[in-house]
Amino acid sequence: MTPGRPVPPPLARPLPDLTDPIDAGSAGPTLAAAYGATASDSGLVPLTVARRAPKADDVEIAIEFCGLCHSDVHATRGEWGGDTYPLVPGHEIVGRVARVGSAVDDFTPGELVGVGCMVDSCRECDSCLDGLEQYCENGMVGTYGAKDARNDGAITQGGYATSIVVDRSYVLRVPEGLDPAAAAPLLCAGITTFSPLRHFDVEEGDVVGVVGLGGLGHMAVKIAKAMGAKVKVFTTSEQKFAAARELGADDVVLSMDPAAMEAADRSIDVIIDTVAAPHDLNPYFRTLRLDGALFQLGLPSEAMPPVNPGALIRRRIAYAGSLIGGIAETQEMLDFCAGHGVVSDVEVVSADRLNEAYDRMVAGDVKYRFVLDVSTLGSPTDKADA
Ligand code: NAP
Ligand code: ZN
Ligand code: ZN
Repeated sequence: MTPGRPVPPPLARPLPDLTDPIDAGSAGPTLAAAYGATASDSGLVPLTVARRAPKADDVEIAIEFCGLCHSDVHATRGEWGGDTYPLVPGHEIVGRVARVGSAVDDFTPGELVGVGCMVDSCRECDSCLDGLEQYCENGMVGTYGAKDARNDGAITQGGYATSIVVDRSYVLRVPEGLDPAAAAPLLCAGITTFSPLRHFDVEEGDVVGVVGLGGLGHMAVKIAKAMGAKVKVFTTSEQKFAAARELGADDVVLSMDPAAMEAADRSIDVIIDTVAAPHDLNPYFRTLRLDGALFQLGLPSEAMPPVNPGALIRRRIAYAGSLIGGIAETQEMLDFCAGHGVVSDVEVVSADRLNEAYDRMVAGDVKYRFVLDVSTLGSPTDKADA
């Protein structure tokens, strides 16, 4: 997607030594150029964030690309409530290791790495011990907008920035064969769709329904196809029919057309629903076979229309949710994608086009994921805003 892209952007401040592991506390925080929101109606503006000096177990990453997830829009615009500002979004991060802490012996400077939606969790509860850190019983620490207990309760700031410092246990290895810009969306859109497909044990011969052909949806199509399934896409947009087939969909259904929905009756084993707005699920339940399941991944800010219990009961259908994926599973997904040549279809944008990209994402006008070229963020100011 971006052949011949030059070396990663320099970190905000000159670093003492990019090859030697550093001692905990041996250096002060660095400043990174970033883009984020200062209020729910501010849009995205240039900001400067402070990044902690890497502790013994930390990895400092010079970010190259960061995907734009619809969750970033929900969060920066205050659609979920409870957001703190300034807020630098971004949890589809790909970059190169710049420095490592003194206890880190499994990452080396220059290595291509990724960070997804979480940067810490309690590491003690049953979920964490089972590798399901995203369901941490004490609350995972999100990559942005979360209180980071292990780091003095600082509020985390995300990947629309030139650098980030993350504990090594939450850093992923990005296989070198993957284009860094096109791999970035795997860190959220990829794992969020891979995880429920794995949980449902999707395999050759299964029929997977994908509702909504956006960032998550197009990854669901590609990953389900790579798992050997047949894929039926449900879209509100007739303009996406040809594009869905190009992505590998075997069938496309216009979800607004009741006759087309009825024709899909009992044809699907599992549905991955990625729609970012409230919508009626009952017509989708009727497309499922006995023992089918619908995984809801979209997280609209407003209530959904009620589910008809009869639609579930008559076919023993499971209505489930699913949240991203654990760290080990995210690594498994990256390796799976590298093995199957799966990456995201991306439109790389510069920082000055972020607000336009958000509007276009909400309007469904992107095939299929915007990715920020972090080298366009400019320089930090002398003082941190966050
Ligand atoms: P996206 O790129 O904007 O795609 C959403 C798709 O939903 C659109 O392309 C559109 O597809 C469909 N849609 C139908 N009606 C819509 C409407 N009124 N408004 C918006 N979209 C509509 O978003 P995304 O990044 O894939 O994220 C999708 C949702 O998943 C968001 O709510 C996000 O917060 C959530 N999410 C959840 C998790 C998780 O762990 N569960 C992780 C990441 C994101 P068609 O044009 O084909 O109809
Ligand atoms: Zn996301
Ligand atoms: Zn935990």
